Amino acid sequence: MKFALAGNPNSGKTTLFNALTGSTAHVGNWPGVTVDKRTGTYKKLDEKVEIVDLPGIYSLSPYTPEEIVSRNFILDEKPDCVINIVDVTNLERNLYLTTQLLETDTPVVIALNMTDALSKAGGRVDSAGLEKELGVPVTEISALKGTNLSELMDKAYKAAKIDRKGSSVIKNGILSSVYDKVYKLYEQNGIADAAFHAVKLIEKDELETKKYPDLAEEAGSLTSEVDTGLFEGDFEGVVADLRYKYIEHKFSGLIKKAEQERALSKSDRIDRILTHKVWGIPIFLAIMLAVFHLTFSENFLLLGLFIKEGTFDIPILGTDALNSPGVILFNAMDWLTATIGDAVSGAMPEGTWYTGLICDGLLSGVFSVLSFIPQILVLFLFLSILEDSGYMARVAFILDRAFRKFGLSGKAFMPLIMCFGCAVPGIMATRTLENEAERKRTVMLAPFFSCGAKLPIWAAFGGVFALAYTNLNATLIVYSMYILGIAVAVLASLLLKKTVVKGETPPFIMELPEYRMPQFKNTMIYLWQKLKHYIFRAATIITGAVIVIWFLTSFNFRLQMVDAEFSIIGIISKWFTWLFVPLGFGMGDKGWMFVVAAFTGLIAKEMVVGTLGVFAGISEDEALEGSADYLFASSLGAVMLAIGGTLGDIDVSVPAMFSFMAFNLLSVPCMAAVAAANGELGGKKNTLTAIAFWMITAYAVSLAVFWYGVFFKVSVVAASVVLALIVAALITLAVLKYKGVIGAKSAVKQSIKGE
Ligand code: GDP
Ligand code: MG
Repeated sequence: MKFALAGNPNSGKTTLFNALTGSTAHVGNWPGVTVDKRTGTYKKLDEKVEIVDLPGIYSLSPYTPEEIVSRNFILDEKPDCVINIVDVTNLERNLYLTTQLLETDTPVVIALNMTDALSKAGGRVDSAGLEKELGVPVTEISALKGTNLSELMDKAYKAAKIDRKGSSVIKNGILSSVYDKVYKLYEQNGIADAAFHAVKLIEKDELETKKYPDLAEEAGSLTSEVDTGLFEGDFEGVVADLRYKYIEHKFSGLIKKAEQERALSKSDRIDRILTHKVWGIPIFLAIMLAVFHLTFSENFLLLGLFIKEGTFDIPILGTDALNSPGVILFNAMDWLTATIGDAVSGAMPEGTWYTGLICDGLLSGVFSVLSFIPQILVLFLFLSILEDSGYMARVAFILDRAFRKFGLSGKAFMPLIMCFGCAVPGIMATRTLENEAERKRTVMLAPFFSCGAKLPIWAAFGGVFALAYTNLNATLIVYSMYILGIAVAVLASLLLKKTVVKGETPPFIMELPEYRMPQFKNTMIYLWQKLKHYIFRAATIITGAVIVIWFLTSFNFRLQMVDAEFSIIGIISKWFTWLFVPLGFGMGDKGWMFVVAAFTGLIAKEMVVGTLGVFAGISEDEALEGSADYLFASSLGAVMLAIGGTLGDIDVSVPAMFSFMAFNLLSVPCMAAVAAANGELGGKKNTLTAIAFWMITAYAVSLAVFWYGVFFKVSVVAASVVLALIVAALITLAVLKYKGVIGAKSAVKQSIKGE
């Protein structure tokens, strides 16, 4: 006789196998693959039984060698009984495989393992109820302690002698009539395991359709008449959904809940809150908001509410309110660079070309980039703490649950989250995705996640506009860019899934690490690497580019020194500035400066502020009233506020600013990222498609942002109503998708704890 042990990874198969077979165990290889094949003999029954430890699997689908090995073994070598090990502490996830094993005609017995851990935690499982529902013998065991093993083997031995007919949970629900018909097709052809094959054929399983092409055709015409609703013809999804609904419906009450809670580890308890079905995303958004508040707020902890106007005014620390740590560091750095800049320009003769080059070009440009280093470091400090503590892994999990129907899986979110730091490693990390369509899609979304180099743009505009328009808030301006990026990525993903890069999103199973205290050393190493990267870029690309830009803005084609407007760049940029007038930021007599800045940003995003810095250094603008008295902050600020201008009697500077930021957020991130994308997309044609995609998205979204902003200026009420309607429509759509699909599927992705 021959018994097979089947179950999820870490369910205790090997432990049980060792307990049953002792010294007879033999380890070999499955033919053709590097998966261990463990066999041994159990001698305590009337006849000797060969025991085979199948590889750990979550499903009998054909995606991994483990799944194929297990599936073929059960179907082709026909063990006399399959012992399905179910980890009782993860009951619902484990039963997903059980529902598939029960579709074969092989006798099955269930070994409910880890019952010692459950009862230690005061939990109890209703195994009689489970047995009744599943229709196969269930035994509570502990593989580790050796409890009830001989009972289990007796039951298996008995079951092995009785014929069994497989049956499937999909015989109920929307596929029931199709299932009955396909089942009959197999039966008429005298094929064993009819239920299993029928389900696989309905799922359009690759191995199955290849093996029975004629039946596949008949089944195809049957399934084509089924309305799969939100699944849009994804029959594998429909079947998975039916399985989970069945499991949830029948078994969710089997374990005494109150007692189960005590069995949860500390991490699990934290996860109940942080990865909560409803609160998970709001909590994530709140955490990010808190991080931005710490980095960008000029009203730290809203202390300004309690400080009387005019009573608190300390340079760097704040006026009428306390600055957040990020802003304090920024001010300190800004003061330092301004002091150095002043000292240098004071020591140089006025009006010469080399004074212009050094002060207006080089220092002005490079310093405006460097002064954001402290804020970047503060932001990355928090991101690295979130990463190191294990929270970022949860974010992938939460986002997966919410967005997988949009074609984004949690696995893809891991590289995308890296893009918050820099798109280059993020794009390279897409290699971890096995599915090619998903990989390409993810690469194309990478730039939408706001990277560190874009931060200076948000911080500079946020700071200046919050200062000039008291109804704006720097933290929220920066925050809105991150959220806009994620939102565009989700929508774009949906679009890509339907058009350019078609393909299904594979199931996502990830291991959630335990939460732990962030390590000081890890954090420092991480920060140092970021800093190094940023300074290196400032010292090389940015310095070089700033000098070129200074040259092009200071001279005309005859190499005479002229005002910026008549310079080489000034003239050239006017040829295509009109293209950006509809986006707002191309408007006005300084519009061309922003167009140039956005274009230099395609080379490297730090260049945007660097370029504006050069323009600020060259232009003779007055200092921004009431702002800090530093040379760079003020003249840079004056240039920034000149964005947009007026439409009739409406001041459109603020909409133009948001439009400009959106354009920089979504357009080609930088040349390094393009090179990385080229490597991953494989081929010039794909890369050009990606570039076009980024530029068109940037243009379209900026256009929408600007005109929505203008609309908002005209009528706050009407604009708010429209926005509320759009948001409500999106939420309704998301809820519908969620209700129909994601809620049921999410069980697959439940955290699988490492050992
Ligand atoms: P496999 O991946 O299915 O082969 O699982 P293993 O046999 O390697 O077991 C995974 C982990 O679960 C190991 O740390 C085992 O010690 C533990 N384990 C297995 N069976 C039991 C059990 O009955 N009770 C408890 N508490 N732990 C168990
Ligand atoms: Mg094992």
